[in-house]
Amino acid sequence: MQEKIKIVIASGNKGKIKEIAQMLPDFDVVGYKDMGLNFELEETGSTFYENALIKAKAVSDALNVPALADDSGLSVEALNGEPGIYSARYSGDGVDAHNIEKLLKNLEGKENRKAKFICTMVMYFPNGKIISATGETYGKILHKCDGEGGFGYDPIFFSDDLNKSFGVSTKEEKNSVSHRFRALEKLKKELK
Ligand code: IMP
Repeated sequence: MQEKIKIVIASGNKGKIKEIAQMLPDFDVVGYKDMGLNFELEETGSTFYENALIKAKAVSDALNVPALADDSGLSVEALNGEPGIYSARYSGDGVDAHNIEKLLKNLEGKENRKAKFICTMVMYFPNGKIISATGETYGKILHKCDGEGGFGYDPIFFSDDLNKSFGVSTKEEKNSVSHRFRALEKLKKELK
């Protein structure tokens, strides 16, 4: 049997690594920390693409293997795309409940609640080749939390595809329409 090609994920998030491994069964998917690296990955770019590229390149350069990174966030139409690349640190302290609180406050009185999650994936190869893909999923911001499932902004995101909030959706339901899933599906086509 042919040995699977190793892909190292430039993320310390175990849930994310597992999710990506399930979506790439033909590859040997491992997290960068499991490869003996112990530095933290910086997100100093000004776009999802730049942040994903910085992370993938750092890991590929350190190990001399192909590395995959993603960067994602929520973009709210009435807030000109905010919180965007700052989604994780929107409130300043990185606590999901505080991020949600700030978003709901900033949307007070606004009729347009349209929003989308965006995910950009970048695969960086030791020879400098780059493959990237972006996935989006659409919905609306609720006026209050609905459910406790998922993470981040899931409880206030009402998915147009699922016709319910990500907070009350199962993992399988969310994974079938998520921005991350859609980005990875596109990336897989590029990889072929
Ligand atoms: P990162 O791509 O892991 O840096 O995630 C950025 C931030 O965007 C997260 O901390 C969440 O606040 C938000 N986010 C990204 N994807 C999702 C999602 O699927 N559900 C809810 N929030 C998300």
